[in-house]
Formats: sequence, C-alpha cells, structure tokens
Amino acid sequence: MEDKILVTKSSMPELPEYIEEISELWDTHWLTNMGCKHQKLQQQLETYLDVDNVELLTNGHMALELSMQASNLSGEVITTPFTFASTTHAIVRNGLTPVFCDIDPVTFTIDASKIEELITDRTTAIVPVHVYGNICNIEEIERIAIKYGLKVIYDAAHAFGVTYKTKGIGSYGDISCFSFHATKVFNSIEGGAVCFKDSDFGKKLYKLKNFGIKNEEVVDGIGANAKMNEFCAAMGLCNLRHVDEEIKKRKLIVERYRQHLDNVEGIQLSPVQKDVKTNYAYFPVVFDEKNFGASRNEVYEALAINNIFARKYFYPLTNTFECFHGKFNVYETPIALHISKRVLTLPLYSNLQLEDVDRICNIVLKCGEKGGCV
Ligand SMILES: *Cc1c(COP(=O)(O)O)cnc(C)c1O
Repeated sequence: MEDKILVTKSSMPELPEYIEEISELWDTHWLTNMGCKHQKLQQQLETYLDVDNVELLTNGHMALELSMQASNLSGEVITTPFTFASTTHAIVRNGLTPVFCDIDPVTFTIDASKIEELITDRTTAIVPVHVYGNICNIEEIERIAIKYGLKVIYDAAHAFGVTYKTKGIGSYGDISCFSFHATKVFNSIEGGAVCFKDSDFGKKLYKLKNFGIKNEEVVDGIGANAKMNEFCAAMGLCNLRHVDEEIKKRKLIVERYRQHLDNVEGIQLSPVQKDVKTNYAYFPVVFDEKNFGASRNEVYEALAINNIFARKYFYPLTNTFECFHGKFNVYETPIALHISKRVLTLPLYSNLQLEDVDRICNIVLKCGEKGGCV
C-alpha cells in the first residue's frame, strides 16, 4: 500500500536554513514581544503582499477577531456561511450578528448581487471570504460599502500572494486578514496578519494584541494577547524565501488535475478569474451525482480506501453548526447548501507528485463510470 496522501502537507525550509535563522535568538534571548524577527517579517510582508501596513498576530483567527473589535462594529455583519468556522466565530465572539448571504455558484465567494437586500439600519460591515483563493467581486462590494457607509473586512486566509489588477489582494477593502497556519500556502507554523490603511485602526489593533498596554505605566484598553513569537516569525522569514517557488509547483499540480478533470460531465472546477494572479491554494471539485455518476461522498470514500484523504471543504456550512442550533435558516443560502453537499477539495501541496495526481484522478474518474467506485 502506498503512503497516506493527506489533503495538504506543510511547507518547511531545509532544517539548516531554519537553524541559521533562529541562532541569533540564542544571543539576544529575545523570544517574543515584537523582537527582530517579528519586525523583519512584518516589513518583508508589507513588500511581498504589496500593502500599506501589516500587523502580525498569533493566528488568522485572532487577525479576524481583533480586526472586528478594533473597528468598533455593532449590530449586524453580512458574511458567507461557505467558509471555515473561524470567520463566523470571529463575528459572533465580538457580540455581532452574522447575516448570511448566499454564494456565487461559480466562484463560491459571496454573491455581491444579494448583499444589498440584506442591509438593515443595524448593518455595520461586510465580511467576505476569498474562498479557495478565488477573489470576491471587489468592485461591487466596494460600491455597496461606500453607498451604505459599511466597513469591508476581507477574510483573505486563502489568498496569500494573490493579486488583482496587479495589486496585492490585501490592499482592497478597509482590512484584509491572512492566516499563516501550517496548512496554508504560506505558513509561520501558526500565525496571521492584518493588512490595513488607517493608522488609527493600526494603533488600536496593536494595543489589542498586547493587553491594551499603552506604555509602561498606562493600560487604557482591554486587550488580549495575540503576539507572534520569534520562532514563528523566523519560520515565516524562511518560508517567504521559497513561497514563489512553492506556488509555481502548485501551478503544475493544478494544471495536471485540470488535464484529467476539465470538461468531465458532472464535474465543476473553480474558474480561472480575469485579472487575477492566483496562488493555487486549493483544488475544489463539485460533483453533480446525476451527470457524473457518483456522489461527492462516494468519491471521498473511494479515495479514503486508497489511503488518499480529500476534505469536504466547506461542509457543513457554518450556519448549520450545532453551536448555532435554531439561530439561522440554512435555506436562506440555498446555493451554499447545494455546493457544500457536493464539493470535495483534492490533495494539493507543492511536493505532491504528478504520478499521485494521475492516480487520484483515475480513482475519481472510475467512480463516475458504470459499475461505480470499486
Ligand atoms: C485557516 C482559516 C482561518 C483561520 O486561520 P488560523 O490561522 O487557523 O487561525 C480563517 N478563515 C479561513 C477561511 C481559513 O481557512
């Protein structure tokens, strides 16, 4: 039996490179609290992501949660249920009410044409997600935000290195939040960043990540602790040197997948978006059982029997979570519900072998043939 293939595998530098990067810390004994690695990574990311300001945080979730808190939001926030738990939880943990907008059936991002009808006098923000690295309808979201005076906070956890119209994706909206979790295209083991333009917001965010401390003798905010430590920042510095190379390798893998799965009856893939330089973060496939011949769950099982572990991202929808029982009506987001029951993200990481992609696709395609998955 071949080795297990998981949906993703963390990128890591060669060990000597990391040792070299952290060896300085044995001289300084400065392990956290915005030390030299933190500063250096912050600066390098401002350049790489092509944004005005970056604030580093412990993880992508705290990036979202503290961004919302620093934005002084209240009432309702329009968002999508087709995302990771973090997006919705960050809203609810801020005491805000998520109002779920349906998704676009092609890009799986928030359907901007359905946002306006959800706006009430309690709405204060829109929290869209560049899901799978597919970018949202940025122009339309901006138009609506300006018209109604709403903040736009993008969950850009999947969109590291993506550009739109040659500008960094994090430069759109008021705020964009990235995740540098081990499973993402770029990782700092755990980590996250907030990109923003407004310097007053930046000051608030900085205080919130550091206990609300203003200076040695003044604490004038009720902050959390969400600082990125030096070992994570050092991992980020190493991985950043290789991320372009990693994305190039991902591109080859995605192209191989597409060779097998493009134009297969009953299979829907993510679109190639205009004016977008993508990062090949995920490879989602939507199975229409009637036209393909097998359901998403059957394909998932067939792969698992062969030691290949795809993921049902994003299933279940966040508006169906047990913790929200009775609070939301999933039938208000019928397209998200439809997609979540049919989508599977296939294994994708930079050193996945092309032969493995061939093998995965053969198993998938066999499921659709007469006689089914086995
Ligand atoms: C990973 C992820 C997050 C949270 O990031 P962490 O760094 O794991 O806290 C938020 N939103 C989405 C869409 C994600 O995929």
